[in-house]
Amino acid sequence: NLPPLVKRSFRRLQGQSGDTPDGVRVLQWNVLSRVCGEAVSSPCHVRVLQWNVLSQALGQMNDNFVCCPDEALEWRSRRYHIIEEIVEYCPDVICLQEVDHFNFLKTVLGTQGYRGAFFPKPDSPCLYIKGNNGPDGCAIFFKEDKFELLKVETRVLEVWRVQSNQVAVVMLLRIRETSQEICVATTHLKARTGALLSTLRNEQGKDLLDFVTSHYGGRPVIICGDFNAEPTEPVYLTLLSHQSLRMASAYATTGDVSDAAPREPPYTTWKIREEGEVCHTIDYVFYSLDSFSVEAVLDFPTGEEIGEGRVPSFGYPSDHFSLVCDFRLKSACELGS
Ligand code: NDP
Ligand code: CA
Repeated sequence: NLPPLVKRSFRRLQGQSGDTPDGVRVLQWNVLSRVCGEAVSSPCHVRVLQWNVLSQALGQMNDNFVCCPDEALEWRSRRYHIIEEIVEYCPDVICLQEVDHFNFLKTVLGTQGYRGAFFPKPDSPCLYIKGNNGPDGCAIFFKEDKFELLKVETRVLEVWRVQSNQVAVVMLLRIRETSQEICVATTHLKARTGALLSTLRNEQGKDLLDFVTSHYGGRPVIICGDFNAEPTEPVYLTLLSHQSLRMASAYATTGDVSDAAPREPPYTTWKIREEGEVCHTIDYVFYSLDSFSVEAVLDFPTGEEIGEGRVPSFGYPSDHFSLVCDFRLKSACELGS
């Protein structure tokens, strides 16, 4: 029952969002040098940011966000809002989906001490969009001064032994100061509704769990992503009921202690398309209960703060909100470090 991490507020780079080639430097002065507030930085803590950043090609050409002004989707300014939101919270690990500008992220986040890996979807819908910047996929970045990268693996998720169009990135990281190893995985499961698709997502979830268990079992594990599934879908229970990983959902464990069952937040994405408004919870950060405890999570903005046009908007560069969680590693913290 801990207080939220920081009050979520978005500061804009008004007029300085880098319409010049010098944009990155302007950003560094105005945003990146900001002190990391209450950020927890100790070898027994890990702060994870999970975010579907909204692919530029899909967001601009495919999603049809009818209440979002076209200018808010312009890459030249939107890209800095994405960076601003990420660095604002000083995460140790960054898990992203719908990344179709990995090189941009790699370059800018590289200046902030991050190193990352990207894996594209085999047949990304972005590739069918005029003027696309390549396929979208999943990416993980980590703070290089905190972790040593022991291994990075990518996976095309299988459904009934056949490769699907969804992927995962898995990293084995060693905390330099304690030599503690942790496994971090991220994925973006198949979108859209329907019984068959819900079954498909469940199979994709099982495939990812099998992969993580067989390669990294026995270690502290964090699995996060856009699961495209509400908590009532089978894949959610599949993640939470895994026998050996013993995982919980970070945002579901911070409700009122009097709650009989853990509750997820009411939404992680809130958008208006031509067909109507979509407001639901489909993004999660799962963690192995035996290894981590959740110390804080970043609150979501209220409907009023978000505004009637919902997201994306000038203030929020994606149709998904970022999830930020502070984990405490139980073993590394036993001696009160
Ligand atoms: P998914 O069904 O997983 O979804 C792809 C993307 O569409 C996701 O990023 C998803 O975002 C977004 N999305 C979800 N709902 C909507 C919606 N109502 N309106 C607009 N966008 C939405 O895709 P697949 O990986 O299965 O790939 C799609 C396939 O479609 C590709 O394999 C490709 O072959 C094919 N395709 C063909 C085209 C053509 O012109 N021939 C054009 C486009 C795709 P989120 O996860 O945030 O919900
Ligand atoms: Ca999307």
